[in-house]
Amino acid sequence: MSANGKQSLVIRNGTLIDSKGGPPVENDAIVVEGNRITSVGPVPGGMNLEDTEKVRVIDASGQWIMPGLIDGHCHLSFGQPDMPGLSIAKGSTSPEFNTIRAAINAQTVLRAGVTSLSIPGGTWFTDVALREAINAGLIEGPRIYCAGRFIVTYGSIGDYEPSWVGTPEHTLGTLANSVPEMITEVRRQTKHGVDFIKMADSTWGDNQTISEEELTAVVDEAHRRNARIAIHSRGSESTMAAAHAGVDWIMHADLATEADLYAVAEQGVRIMPTMTFLEHAAKIGGDYGRGTAEMDLIKRNLEGAAEMLQTARNLGVKVMAGTDTGNSPLMPYGELHGNEADIFVRHGGYTPMEAIQACTRENAFAVGLEDQVGVIDSGMLADIIILDQDPLADIRVLQGGRHLTAVIKDGKMVDLAGNEAQETAKLHFTKA
Ligand SMILES: [Zn+2]
Repeated sequence: MSANGKQSLVIRNGTLIDSKGGPPVENDAIVVEGNRITSVGPVPGGMNLEDTEKVRVIDASGQWIMPGLIDGHCHLSFGQPDMPGLSIAKGSTSPEFNTIRAAINAQTVLRAGVTSLSIPGGTWFTDVALREAINAGLIEGPRIYCAGRFIVTYGSIGDYEPSWVGTPEHTLGTLANSVPEMITEVRRQTKHGVDFIKMADSTWGDNQTISEEELTAVVDEAHRRNARIAIHSRGSESTMAAAHAGVDWIMHADLATEADLYAVAEQGVRIMPTMTFLEHAAKIGGDYGRGTAEMDLIKRNLEGAAEMLQTARNLGVKVMAGTDTGNSPLMPYGELHGNEADIFVRHGGYTPMEAIQACTRENAFAVGLEDQVGVIDSGMLADIIILDQDPLADIRVLQGGRHLTAVIKDGKMVDLAGNEAQETAKLHFTKA
């Protein structure tokens, strides 16, 4: 059952957290026609709620209604988390299999209450294809706004093979070691339909692998082609260079100094700390084969990121929320998308309301839909979740989809149970 052109969806009662910034209010009626919210307030005159052919009513009494979550950083097509019997991103996975698996990942994510995803990097052009298939109504999934493979220089994150192997299509990065090569790659990726370009500096930020001159050239080319540009930058120098180049957002910025962040603020560049991955990896990375040296870097960067978040906020930098779900086997789909909100409360001095806004209204920019999603208001796209506990009382209520009673994406009710095969697949994905 879904709301379509003929059937309106009306959510009655409950507590409304509209994410506009005001306190929660008692909900009377949210009306959805097609894929838009058409009114929030009293039941419109002339609407007969008894007419079940024309109106589907959801009673949210005793529950909490808020915009669908937006994960600003999630990878669906890396081939991770892994499945038993399949090796990861070493060429044994075909693009065909990988695409089907990514489609299942998308559904798992949607059923966890995430109605939009920003995907900063995938393999092949799998995520572009997924976006098209979801938008065409072929398969169910969140709204997708995606990059292609990271554009990297030798030694950047995503350039994992020896130089004589290079960076085949199933790997995370694509090599470009000069401005002309980078511009060619931006042109190739935009031709194939990416929404934004993902540049990637060094893995943990200890050296700078892309120059400001190169970044500036890529920003200009991407923007000429109406694509945005984001960068994986954990280091200080790379963050300063990214700010000067005018990227749209910087992911991580763990080791950024106050001076770097001042430049970020001055340029109006956004930051997405993505601390969920660091915190999770600091806890369980050892169980997944990460060695002592890497675990030390993870802990160092986690501490740096916590400090960076507070400084960035103090300087008025706009902060977005992402988790890096799917970046490695320790980041299972559907489980961690609400965790960044809790981290913002614990480490960033956010109120739960501000943390909810970070994961909804503020993140609309990361999916190219500012003023379209992330808020419950008349005229907005109808992406709504309903929870059986109050996320303002405990922000962890957002985690793992455990408190969801309804997910509405683009005006359509999502079947939260899914089918048995997919549940089985999810079990495999989350298996250590
Ligand atoms: Zn990532």
